Amino acid sequence: MQTSGKVLVAGAGGFIGGWLVQDLINKGFKDIVAVDIKESDDWYQVFDSVENRRIDLRDYGNCLEVMKGVDIVYNLAADMGGMGFIENNKALCMLSVLINTNLIEVARSNNVERYFYASSACVYRQSMQLETHNLGLKESDAYPADPENGYGWEKLFSERMCNHYFEDFGLQVRVGRFHNVYGPHGTFDGGREKAPAAICRKIAQAVISGNHHIEIWGDGEQTRSFTYIDDTLKGINLLMESQYSLPLNIGSSEEVSINQLVDIVEEIAGIKVERRYALDAPKGVRGRNSDNTLIKELFNWAPNVTLKEGLTQTYNWIYRELD
Ligand code: NAD
Repeated sequence: MQTSGKVLVAGAGGFIGGWLVQDLINKGFKDIVAVDIKESDDWYQVFDSVENRRIDLRDYGNCLEVMKGVDIVYNLAADMGGMGFIENNKALCMLSVLINTNLIEVARSNNVERYFYASSACVYRQSMQLETHNLGLKESDAYPADPENGYGWEKLFSERMCNHYFEDFGLQVRVGRFHNVYGPHGTFDGGREKAPAAICRKIAQAVISGNHHIEIWGDGEQTRSFTYIDDTLKGINLLMESQYSLPLNIGSSEEVSINQLVDIVEEIAGIKVERRYALDAPKGVRGRNSDNTLIKELFNWAPNVTLKEGLTQTYNWIYRELD
């Protein structure tokens, strides 16, 4: 794998961005610029060996300035969160279009070698996600377009922009469609957390407080597949090293209901909780899963960390943070 050149990680103060910077350092990259809009105190992981910058990437001038001499770009910056956030902040989610638009245009004018865009399973057609059991969404299922309102439309638009920058200008784009990424050093409270972190936090709080009631959004029968951070990084690396320039699922295909997710975390924590169902809470689509036929064909690999393994790491980290 190439380990030379200057790399920009946009959204480096976030969950996946923080892990990606660590991964790039481990791989031997020496010249890394880590950028986020947040104060550095709020970054999940900060590495002194890289250049850390606090910048708003919705501003074109900022993108021009920070991209000087950059060869490889990873765009993981977005205003996002779990269902509770994206269902109530559709316009804010769509404003992330400015980040990708500015970054990709500067990448083109600077002749950047490779450009990664973090897309999402939220681009998939909602009408294909009405049942709890989902056989798996394959890449072509994003069309005809009917993505998640706000957040999903922004992701689908930005994916297409990447695609057209490749077609029209030859910019080497790589687009990963992430499916519910989880792991330590990510959001677990405050309203932007996703289901795995939220359930780990609620059960850890139950252990700590002795109050063994937790709230579950919806009836708990909605399904998802959850991808551990190590698998996500491996998928990003394989895609970046490949010649494949169209959107690719980077997601686990281990389908579970939210109730089954709770069962697993209960087992890890060693307690049983009383589940109270908040039927009016945001719940998103009824069933979503990743079809991994294409990633297996391309790389002879697909995400394979089991939910039990990944949740054990995640629960233990959240428990320590709370305790
Ligand atoms: P995150 O919220 O932890 O990280 C995103 C980071 O982008 C944040 O630290 C945020 O401060 C930063 N950011 C937002 N606006 C910015 C701006 N204007 N300028 C600079 N930085 C800005 O999210 P994450 O889970 O690490 O997700 C990373 C990427 O992957 C995002 O694009 C997200 O949409 C995508 N994604 C994530 C998941 C998931 O399950 N985590 C699933 C699908 C897609």
